[in-house]
Amino acid sequence: MQGLMMDYPLTIDRILEHANRMYPHKRVVTRLPDGSMHDYTYGDLYKRVKRLANALVGLGVKPGDRVATFAGNNYQHLELYYAIPCAGAVCHTLNIRLSPEQQAYVINHAEDKVIFIDAALLTLFEGEVGPIEGVKHYVVFGQEGAVDSNLPGVRYYGDLLARGEEEFEWEVIDERSAAGLCYTSGTTGNPKGVLYSHRSIYLHTIGENQANALGLCESDVVLPAVPMFHAMAWGLPYAAAFAGADLVLPGAASDPAVLLDLIVQNRVTVPAGVPTVWNSVYKELKENPRDLSDIRCLVAGGAAMPRELILRFEHEFEVEVVHSWGMTEMSPIGTMSRLSRHHAELTEKEKHDIRATQGQAVPGVEIRIVNDKGERLPWDGIVMGEVQVCGPWITKGYYKEEPTAEYFTPDGWFRTGDVATITEDGYMQITDRTKDLVRSGGEWISSVALENELMAHPKVHEAAVIAIPDERWGERPLAVVALEPDAGGVMREEFSSHLSLHFPKYWLPDDYVLVDMIPKTSVGKFDKREIRRRHAEGQLGA
Ligand code: AMP
Repeated sequence: MQGLMMDYPLTIDRILEHANRMYPHKRVVTRLPDGSMHDYTYGDLYKRVKRLANALVGLGVKPGDRVATFAGNNYQHLELYYAIPCAGAVCHTLNIRLSPEQQAYVINHAEDKVIFIDAALLTLFEGEVGPIEGVKHYVVFGQEGAVDSNLPGVRYYGDLLARGEEEFEWEVIDERSAAGLCYTSGTTGNPKGVLYSHRSIYLHTIGENQANALGLCESDVVLPAVPMFHAMAWGLPYAAAFAGADLVLPGAASDPAVLLDLIVQNRVTVPAGVPTVWNSVYKELKENPRDLSDIRCLVAGGAAMPRELILRFEHEFEVEVVHSWGMTEMSPIGTMSRLSRHHAELTEKEKHDIRATQGQAVPGVEIRIVNDKGERLPWDGIVMGEVQVCGPWITKGYYKEEPTAEYFTPDGWFRTGDVATITEDGYMQITDRTKDLVRSGGEWISSVALENELMAHPKVHEAAVIAIPDERWGERPLAVVALEPDAGGVMREEFSSHLSLHFPKYWLPDDYVLVDMIPKTSVGKFDKREIRRRHAEGQLGA
């Protein structure tokens, strides 16, 4: 017997309708390239999204067409986040930091019909990408007057909006239709497309807003410091609107002082970004302390947030850090680390150990660890295995690719490529990417754990650990360290004795290479592929 409940469509236009009906007065604030602020409301956003949807139809965009964005975090990008899918098309957020070859690859692979370009990034686009056959229109936004451009038939966002009618009937009929497209940052081979549906985005939005996840609500002010091209800004532009939270968009700014000013001036309660951003924000705070008492939860994800950095934020600035793990393929939220009630009895150190894990699966995501044969491993906090996930906002196949055994199990779970332990009460600790684990003499050494402890050393700014080939042991760990400016002379023995307090002897890196800066990927993570390449070519520094 079937239940008698409505088949209410889980589509993005419903999120926007709700925001407009319930919270038309709530604010969307953008920092513009000249440092001034643009400020409007969800009510204003709603009207402009309708005009923009009409403009898209006017450009010949049909349901299912891919429409790309090449933009920073600003209100126009937010309008595109809604107008493109609500007009039935697919919002493809281009990663502005991809190489020219990768950029051409993803645009051609996605068969983008229109590209919306942030004027602040127009020179970058023209230099790195340029005109691409098959793209019918280029639309520039955020410019004053006409621009001089080598792109054919450039149009202007302001003109399109001015001509667009104010009424628009949302085009989405089927909640399973595609709404968003993000390519993974691709550490090997070509980037892969993850194609979100209206339904997956709607459910992820609700999932993210649960109290066990971010629990966004009307009194929150959310600042996505994560770029809007990185896994749909972790879903925050949808989650904030559905909850009625204000949104603060930092433009293209990643300068820590600017981010801190935005946080303070707008009384941000939930800022979200990758650990490298929070590391530089911490350094800026040490030099110029600010009052951060409005922050209720600083979200750190996308890479492992060092335990010590979590501690420093909490002890020195009373900022609660919530560590989260996810992937582009997971929309992206998978786990979040919050203490449970039964942790009340633990010591402060034990509590911090738990907070520094990647945490528990958010309701809606199922998680398991398996061995090389695909057999489930126990949750004892000790045994490491490959993490596999399933749930309604997790991909079931890459765009235009047959699902293969490399990424999917016979029972339909997604193979994340991450390795972790899970405790009896479900707290997951990522020890590595399968490709980054150091396999030494038949034992596994976690590069993430070593990095974490190295970054707790007061003289270390950042540290990455890679596996290097070794005749005797197969592989050995090599640490690459960027020192604090005032570190003075550091002896490698200092690092070894620091690490030997926490790890067995065979874990200790064979060498420490000092570098000015750790190479980063396009989304701000340590680029271990590049570090390995530089090491293999003897270009790694002292
Ligand atoms: P991306 O799709 O670019 O966000 O990359 C996803 C990958 O980033 C995951 O598979 C993990 O390897 C890594 N990652 C994301 N969040 C965390 C975290 N909190 N701790 C450790 N690794 C993380």
